Amino acid sequence: MKFFRLLTGLAWTLVFSGGACFGEVKVVVERIDNDNATPAFAFKNIPPPFGASAVAGATITILSGAPNLNGGEKLDKLRDGAAPTEPDQPEENFFFANGSAGGRILIDLGRSIAIKQVNTYSWHPNTRGPQVYELYAGDAGRAGFDSKPTEAGAELVKLGWRLVAKVDTRPKAGPMGGQYGVSISDSDGVVGTNRHLLLDVSATEDTDPFGNTFYSEIAVIDRDAPPVVAVAPRPDAMRSFEMEGPKYRFSIDTARAPGLKDWANETLAPVVREWYPKIVQLLPSDGFVAPLQFSIVLTTNYHHPGIAITRGTRVTCDANWCAGELNGEAVGSIVHELVHVAQQYESAGFFNPNATRPPGWLVEGIPDYLRFYLFEPGARGADIASRHGGENARYDASYRVTANFLSFVVEKYDKRIIQELNAALREGKYSPVLWKELTGRAVEDLGAEWKAGLLGRTVGASADKVFPSGNPASP
Ligand SMILES: [Zn+2]
Repeated sequence: MKFFRLLTGLAWTLVFSGGACFGEVKVVVERIDNDNATPAFAFKNIPPPFGASAVAGATITILSGAPNLNGGEKLDKLRDGAAPTEPDQPEENFFFANGSAGGRILIDLGRSIAIKQVNTYSWHPNTRGPQVYELYAGDAGRAGFDSKPTEAGAELVKLGWRLVAKVDTRPKAGPMGGQYGVSISDSDGVVGTNRHLLLDVSATEDTDPFGNTFYSEIAVIDRDAPPVVAVAPRPDAMRSFEMEGPKYRFSIDTARAPGLKDWANETLAPVVREWYPKIVQLLPSDGFVAPLQFSIVLTTNYHHPGIAITRGTRVTCDANWCAGELNGEAVGSIVHELVHVAQQYESAGFFNPNATRPPGWLVEGIPDYLRFYLFEPGARGADIASRHGGENARYDASYRVTANFLSFVVEKYDKRIIQELNAALREGKYSPVLWKELTGRAVEDLGAEWKAGLLGRTVGASADKVFPSGNPASP
C-alpha cells in the first residue's frame, strides 16, 4: 500500500494494488485552488457532489471522535446531495471537533451494494481543505465481522474489514486551501460488494485547532443503480471584498435574502471593509493573527437565537430583522459580530490547557463597547444603560449595559483596559483580579461607582422608546 500525497494543484490519478480478490484500486484526487473554486465543484474527472447517492438512505454514525459543535448535527450534510456555496461554511459541512485528531465515520448502507465508486468532497480556504483518511469496507456476512469496531486501524482487518485506500490530499508545500475531490474506484468496476464503510479520518495538521477537514459530501455510487444526474447548484448571490489590499477578504451572501443585496453591497460592505481591520488593530495580543477571511450570510431562513450569530469565521444574520433595521441597528449589530470574528476566544483552551473560561458578559460587552463607543459614538450609546434597569443596572449585565460600564472604566481609570482584557480573555488568563491590577479597584467597586454615576445622570430620562428592550446581539 502506498500513502497518497498530492504533489501539485493538478489532478492526479494514483493507482495501487489492492488485495488478491480485487482489481486495481484507483484513487483520483483533484484540487481546485481558492481563486478558482466555485459552488459548482467543477472537477475535471470527478463528478460534482450533487444528487443523491447510495448514502442517501444509509445510516451514518460517528464511531469515535467528537464532532464539532457547529457541524456535529450535520452528518446529514455528508449525503444530502448538496454542497457548500462558500469556501468557509461550517454549517454546510461535517467536521470533527477543533483541536481533535479526527475520528471515525461509519456508514451502514442497509444492504450489500456493488460499489462502483466512493467519492468524497471538501472545501475550505485553509487547512480544513485537504482530506486525510483511510477507507475500510466490510460486509456483515464475513465470519467474525465486527460492524462497530473500536480497535486501532491495524486490527480492523482481523475483524473482517478490508483496507480499500489510504487518502492524503495535502499538498507537499504551499497553502492547503481549496476544493478537493477524491474518487476511489476499481479496475474491475466494483470496489467491493459491501454493506459497511468506515472512514478513519485524521486532522490535516495540529499546529492550531483548525486542522479538521470540512467534509462537504460523501457519495457512494451503486454499480446497479441508474446513473446519478448532477443537479447544478442554484445561482448564488455572493460577492467577495478585499480589505487593506488583498490582506483581508470577506464575502457577503444574500442568496437567501435577495431583497438585501443592494444594501449589503452598497451600505454594509464599505463599513465592514473599513471596520474589520480597525477592530483587529484595536484588539491585539502577542503572537495572535486574526482571521484573514470570513463570511457574512444574510438569510431569511435564520434558526439561531438572537438576530445574528458568529461561529468561527462565519457571521449569520437574520435578514428579516435586518430588513426592518436598515436605518437602525442592522449595520451596528454586524459590527458587533465582526468583533467576535476578531476575538477568537474559543481558541484559548487549545493553546493553554489551564485556560479560564471567558465570562459571557465580557465576551458580549467588548463587542458592544467597540460598536457603541467607537463605531457609532454618541448616536446610540448615551442612554443605553438607563433603559436597562436604572436601580437594577449591573456592570455584568452584558451587551450594551456592560459596554456602558466599560466606557466608564476606559474614561476614568484605564485607557488600555479593553486591550488588556481582550488579551487576557483570548489567552485564557482572565481573572476578576485583573481589574484590581489594572485600575487599583475591584470590579464590584468599579461597578458600584459606575452605577451611582449612571443614576445621577439618568434621573427622569426615558430612552425606552428609542431602543427595543432586550439584547438583539447574540453569542
Ligand atoms: Zn455577540
